[in-house]
Amino acid sequence: MDSRSIEEQLNRFYDIVRETNLPEGVEEELNAEADEVMAELVRRRDEGAYSRFVAEVIAREHMRIERGERDRPLCACGDALCPLSSGKLPPQLRPIKSEHFGEEDSKELIDEYEERHPEALVLREARREWERKEVKLERRLRQLIARAKQHRESGATTAYTEV
Ligand SMILES: [Zn+2]
Repeated sequence: MDSRSIEEQLNRFYDIVRETNLPEGVEEELNAEADEVMAELVRRRDEGAYSRFVAEVIAREHMRIERGERDRPLCACGDALCPLSSGKLPPQLRPIKSEHFGEEDSKELIDEYEERHPEALVLREARREWERKEVKLERRLRQLIARAKQHRESGATTAYTEV
């Protein structure tokens, strides 16, 4: 369920669209949605994207505590100086501008921190939210592929080839 499999599905979708005579308008519609998924994929792989995402979730959840909308602490470690409890991503987890510090690294760094700091509830929540978005992207792609195939199977004029 990594981004690579999403990319493979996306390529598969573009292959199907290329090989199928889609009715007017349908190809544009499907491609526009695929482009959206692609853009989201690129954003997620952007340098420091995960780190920024987690920082946003922490800030958002901190705001909810201040508004009285959330009872669960962001971190249950009880340390008065814990940056998570005050709504901040620990400084060592912030993205560093370096060509060697890509999305994978920032995810790895934050996951490792979470292992060492298991009371960090908000980090676990953010990780799950990030994973749920991945699952959603996969589902959207599967639906796009199914919609494109439907047209191919309902008598498209191009030769039928299994992909
Ligand atoms: Zn803490």
